[in-house]
Amino acid sequence: MQILVVEDDESVAAGVVEGLTRAGFAASHVATGGHALDTVRDSCPDFVLLDLGLPDMDGTDVCRAVRALTATPIIVVSARDEEIDRVLALELGADDYLVKPFGMRELIARIRAVARRTDERVPDGQPDAFNRNLGGLSIDQRSRRVVLDGVEVRLTAKEFELLYYLAEDPGAVFQRREILRAVWDSDWYGTTKTVDAHVAAIRKKLGDPRWIEAVRGVGFRLGIPG
Ligand code: CA
Repeated sequence: MQILVVEDDESVAAGVVEGLTRAGFAASHVATGGHALDTVRDSCPDFVLLDLGLPDMDGTDVCRAVRALTATPIIVVSARDEEIDRVLALELGADDYLVKPFGMRELIARIRAVARRTDERVPDGQPDAFNRNLGGLSIDQRSRRVVLDGVEVRLTAKEFELLYYLAEDPGAVFQRREILRAVWDSDWYGTTKTVDAHVAAIRKKLGDPRWIEAVRGVGFRLGIPG
């Protein structure tokens, strides 16, 4: 996921870019609203983190202009914590609002939550919206086919959905309960052992257990072996 950080304070920007990079995101940085709009137009980032206090434009105007160009998720990050600012930013099309100072863990958790929530909003004509590619693994939602190093891997319907769900955010840890809710019906009160059994089956079919890593006491994440 390519994240554009719009922030005129160089030290804040450097810290955020470094934190995002360490968390596995690709992050780039611009310091003005004008550059932000150029970048959104030219390189279509997957996500925008937007400071409101910018030297050339008000962040709320940047927010409105970005939203007019694209459905890219926006999180406003600002020292302004008045309710009116939050409401204004959200009404102008921001997906979330985070008040400075904030911790990287919270920022990353919010990015992931917004990315999951807005995933269905990805506009038509972007082939990657249905296709997840990772290492030699390709997961196509429309045809429900999984191909590993050129060879088709046959998964059951639930195995496919579980793998596709984890592949929405490779490297992110998903809790067993979270997986159950997303992959099985929301009113399904089964045991989380079901998740483990399906993970075991997928690992076997992919031929390497490292594709799905168990995080002790938490859940699972998708990784690339080697
Ligand atoms: Ca600022």
